[in-house]
Amino acid sequence: MRLDLACTRCPLSRSRTQVVPPAGDLDSIVCFVGEAPGEKEDLTGKPFVGRAGKMLDKLLRIEELDRKRIMITNTVKCRPPENRNPTAEEMTACFPYLEQELEGRKLVVAMGRVACAGLIGDATKLGSEANIVRKVKVGRDQIDVLPAYHPSACLFNVQARKSLQESIRIAKGFIDDDR
Ligand code: URA
Repeated sequence: MRLDLACTRCPLSRSRTQVVPPAGDLDSIVCFVGEAPGEKEDLTGKPFVGRAGKMLDKLLRIEELDRKRIMITNTVKCRPPENRNPTAEEMTACFPYLEQELEGRKLVVAMGRVACAGLIGDATKLGSEANIVRKVKVGRDQIDVLPAYHPSACLFNVQARKSLQESIRIAKGFIDDDR
């Protein structure tokens, strides 16, 4: 289902400023998926432009992966009030959009527990399962999903930061191999 910028499929439509659509290279073979827009994203209409976005940018820069070469989106496209986690109902209501966005991708980097739950469907233990590719059926496609730490976890956790850097290296490998 194509993203509807006037969507009212769940109650987040009543509190959001705007729907936050995917950004970056919308034809990239790699898509990074976060949780939900925060305050800055809700105000600007762009994903990962706040504190977590700055951390993601920093790690992308270190690993020399240009943000313009990847697609970036969220599990739910509207900001939950007070940045709480999206509910299962909100994730289910938004899933058809994510499914359409991921069509044709070779690798999906699921950043954080919410993205992992939305895509893999179970409680992923990132300590042992990060950076191990899972085959997941999304719509008609079988897609490689890479469980990864969320950039906000990397703000204060060195292990998480090293792990997300490794995720970015894996993603860069997919892009370089595709040329
Ligand atoms: N955190 C997310 O998961 N997504 C954003 O777009 C910003 C912060």
